[in-house]
Amino acid sequence: MNILLLGSGGREHALAWRLSQSSLLANGGKLYAAPGNPGIAQVAECVALDVTDHAAVVAFCDANRIGFVVVGPEAPLVDGLGDTLRGEGIAVFGPNKAPAQLEGSKGFTKDLCQRANIPTAGYQRVTSLEQAMAVLGEFGAPVVVKADGLAAGKGVTVAMTMAEAEEAVRDIFAGRFGEGSAEAVIEEFMTGEEASFFALTDGATIMAFASAQDHKRVGDGDTGPNTGGMGAYSPAPVLTAELEAEVMTKIIAPTVKTLANEGIPYSGVLFAGLMLTSEGPKLIEYNARFGDPETQVMMARLQSDLGELLLACAENRLATMAAPKFASETALTVVMAGTGYPGTPDKGAVITGIDAAEATGAKVFHAGTAAKDDAIVVNGGRVLNVTALGANVTAAQAGAYAAVDAISCDQLFCRRDIGWREVARERG
Ligand code: ATP
Repeated sequence: MNILLLGSGGREHALAWRLSQSSLLANGGKLYAAPGNPGIAQVAECVALDVTDHAAVVAFCDANRIGFVVVGPEAPLVDGLGDTLRGEGIAVFGPNKAPAQLEGSKGFTKDLCQRANIPTAGYQRVTSLEQAMAVLGEFGAPVVVKADGLAAGKGVTVAMTMAEAEEAVRDIFAGRFGEGSAEAVIEEFMTGEEASFFALTDGATIMAFASAQDHKRVGDGDTGPNTGGMGAYSPAPVLTAELEAEVMTKIIAPTVKTLANEGIPYSGVLFAGLMLTSEGPKLIEYNARFGDPETQVMMARLQSDLGELLLACAENRLATMAAPKFASETALTVVMAGTGYPGTPDKGAVITGIDAAEATGAKVFHAGTAAKDDAIVVNGGRVLNVTALGANVTAAQAGAYAAVDAISCDQLFCRRDIGWREVARERG
């Protein structure tokens, strides 16, 4: 079978790497990626394709006998590409537009939590500045203000003071977040440690996948502005087997069941951002796709056939599959980002030492790289994901930084403390 993977980040390099090993490609099957990146090009044929042009994606699938499309990022899902491909009889990993609102609309998710009695922060949806100000008065500070739609992680303000909260709602209703501007969610502030949990589902059967923890802030010690993620490890020991079971029964299962009952079954991966509060795990948000950089560490540990698992979701036969198997080790990834990130990164410098980094046993996933005159150069915000396995977080961290130190480029930087929470706990 021929497979098309959509996306170009480190997440997609990790998915492409595991998909390229899938038995689905036996008998001459080919893996394509659009648009891909130089790392993905080592395991797939990269093609230029505008994923916002659904007709072009369908035409590509027809011309290249694509039997299965794996969608990496959220935008095409929220935009309904899943519906288009399913309508053409093409198997697709990723939800349709209606259930993808779990990621596309924070208000949709909060309302669903309320209907299904899923633990989450108390909230109110607001549609005007006056209403928002009145609700802020009722909630008091600290409080969380969120633009309703997709805002690439920039639509959320955790406000410690009323002044910050008021500025955030003013920004939202002044149209700073475009489409999401008409609506906001005001939420109770929760405290606890954050963790990510991933489950696969075909709309009926649900299968726990893996846990991870990422590092959103740009600087060591979790300081500085938010980013797409500067590093991660999996599994997250803080999410014990007991807590995972609680997340499955109280959060994931009622979500999948409610959407199915309401006629918009969810198919794909459910990525739950969790707050582990003193009252138990509570849902912060859902994403409708794999996380970046969490996918890099989950794929580093995955031993099962990724293609078979994802296709079983797409073909509503997850119940026939064995639970995914993972290496017992911990995987840790360090993001090397372009200087200037999360602002405008510098670009163009040559990166050397990727082979030397991999010679240490680490795996280097490409994100914002480009190939130029036989060299790999910096071409984006997050550039490389240097990923290592180890007996615990401390060992995986040592492996990842040994590999990072083999890479040279004066336009790259990274955090030096990925995994710090768990390393401190392992020290005791
Ligand atoms: P991203 O896509 O970057 O993960 P997002 O824009 O979808 O973010 P959320 O995940 O909902 O937004 O929120 C971003 C961050 O804000 C969370 O990771 C968490 O640290 C913080 N946060 C969100 N909601 C709350 C809350 N109710 N209480 C405390 N912190 C919160």
